[in-house]
Amino acid sequence: MSSTEPVPDLEAGILYWATQPANYDGVLGGFGTGSLPRVDALGSRRFLLDLLPELSTVPSPFRNLSAPTSETRRVRALDVGAGVGRVTSDVLLPLVSDVVLLEPVEPFINEARSRGKASESGVELNDSGYRVLWKGIADKSKSVTFFKGALQSFDPAAPGTPLDRVGYLPPDGDDDKESKFDVIWCQWCLGHLKDDDLVQFLQMSKKALRDARSLIVVKENLCREQGNEPVTVFDEQDSTFTRFVRSDYVLQKSLL
Ligand code: SAH
Repeated sequence: MSSTEPVPDLEAGILYWATQPANYDGVLGGFGTGSLPRVDALGSRRFLLDLLPELSTVPSPFRNLSAPTSETRRVRALDVGAGVGRVTSDVLLPLVSDVVLLEPVEPFINEARSRGKASESGVELNDSGYRVLWKGIADKSKSVTFFKGALQSFDPAAPGTPLDRVGYLPPDGDDDKESKFDVIWCQWCLGHLKDDDLVQFLQMSKKALRDARSLIVVKENLCREQGNEPVTVFDEQDSTFTRFVRSDYVLQKSLL
């Protein structure tokens, strides 16, 4: 390591991920075939239902009778650094109507897209051990829109031209492109952003939220604080020095 402070490098990060297999094992650093994907997805859905009980699809103790109902409008989520669409398929689609998926690495976005396409045609490709048919895509009640790009150059309020879309299409003349988000989900990818890029992304995300109940969810690995000092370290696990791991305190400072 040089004496200057290391910072995440966009290209190095993308090159690193392009060497990983385009499946759950690849995006989860080798933990794709055990219980982790299921435990992670269930925990995430439970967390989301705690915060937005109106998303519950069945009568349940989570569903607060006085909470606003989402039955009258579509609920939109953004999944950034989405990999092969794991969070989209296993966390978001079970609960929301429309997902916008952002991923910069070609083999990953291609895999996410072909899983979406397979779901649309109802083809069960059960070759990788994970759920292939995405909820609401074959019957076109839900949608996923795919964007190829990096967080550093993505404005959630103006996502640009999509690569593709599967499932529900808004009726003619009714364009949902300008709609805002109820949930922006960031999982295991914010470590690729330098501090100023992270702050900028969070500020733009905040502007793209629908209302006061909308959420930005950050599910990231954290390192320990040292005394009262905020800590940021490079994750050396993959020897590529591409990922930042921030302590809770550092992350909270960017969120506030
Ligand atoms: N969030 C997904 C994938 C985690 S793996 C999941 O939980 O399954 C980390 C992902 O971040 C990879 O898909 C990688 O390509 C993506 N990524 C890397 N650099 C990025 C950047 N600058 N902007 C957005 N995503 C990035």
